[in-house]
Amino acid sequence: MPKRVAFAQLSSCWGCDQSLVDLHLRLLEVLPQLEIKYWPAVVDYKLSDLERLPKGSLHVGFVEGSCRTQEDVHLLEVMREKSQVLVAWGSCSCYGGVQGLANQWSIDEAITRKFLKADTVTDPRVPDENVPGFTDHIVPNPDIVPFELIIPGCPPTSDNIYDAVVALLTGKPFDLPDRTVCDECPREREEKHIKEFHRTYEGHIDPNKCLLDQGYLCLGFATIGLCGAQCPSANSPCKGCFGPPPSIKDHGAKIIAALGAITDMSPEELKSMFPDPIGSFYFTDYAASFISKIATAERSDTK
Ligand code: SF4
Ligand code: SF4
Ligand code: SF4
Repeated sequence: MPKRVAFAQLSSCWGCDQSLVDLHLRLLEVLPQLEIKYWPAVVDYKLSDLERLPKGSLHVGFVEGSCRTQEDVHLLEVMREKSQVLVAWGSCSCYGGVQGLANQWSIDEAITRKFLKADTVTDPRVPDENVPGFTDHIVPNPDIVPFELIIPGCPPTSDNIYDAVVALLTGKPFDLPDRTVCDECPREREEKHIKEFHRTYEGHIDPNKCLLDQGYLCLGFATIGLCGAQCPSANSPCKGCFGPPPSIKDHGAKIIAALGAITDMSPEELKSMFPDPIGSFYFTDYAASFISKIATAERSDTK
């Protein structure tokens, strides 16, 4: 019997959906085994189609994106109510995503910047008609409702999605590995002792040697190994988009601690090399970090 499934999109770029569609012909293997009840990215479903379903009637619900609006929160809660197994699909859903970086500011400051002050604004006004209210800050979806499974990645690879869907269809476990991108990376490594960091456009990258050994900020050592080391394999440092492996509780804290141990630089020198440390060390998972949680809690207390 086909499994009843739904794919929901909260605030996001929908790139995780692109990665699913990138399965191409392999979609033909899995689609006959799915009874799709809600997938607005490809068919004109309405929220009411999902709301009408009986509780727990979906075998699996996939949630992409994070809750930037109250409407997102409602959709997430409806998905939880209807799904026997709920899957956080992509780093936005698992950790808050790139938009979680906005937690560095209050929602009022973010709205002012976005709609009134940004250089690209030509008609400065805050939209207030037919729009859902914003959430005060971004929270990882698993902090709002319980999930049975997370599939990180920005986006997860098509192989990750295929493996997870097949595991869910066959009842097999889909456990996240405790390996890192470094474990999947073919580059030669040496004892690390970094004297200075370079921007990726500076110097000439040796295609065989570890990028971090060459002074390029590659975060593969603290990032879960699920993507096949695709960026270092293409001569580009890992930005950490898949978040940390399960044994690392705070991605950026681990990165900062490791950099402190392998460089001769003072905190001031490191700071001057990374003018945007939060963006550099928490690309997709700032909302899941301890410092974001402390800052947003303090902001809520003073409201
Ligand atoms: S995880 Fe990345 S690819 Fe997926 S919706 Fe979020 S920003 Fe887009
Ligand atoms: S290039 Fe990056 S991913 Fe590869 S071994 Fe070095 S730090 Fe790890
Ligand atoms: S190498 Fe790093 S940045 Fe690139 S896809 Fe993999 S986890 Fe993301």
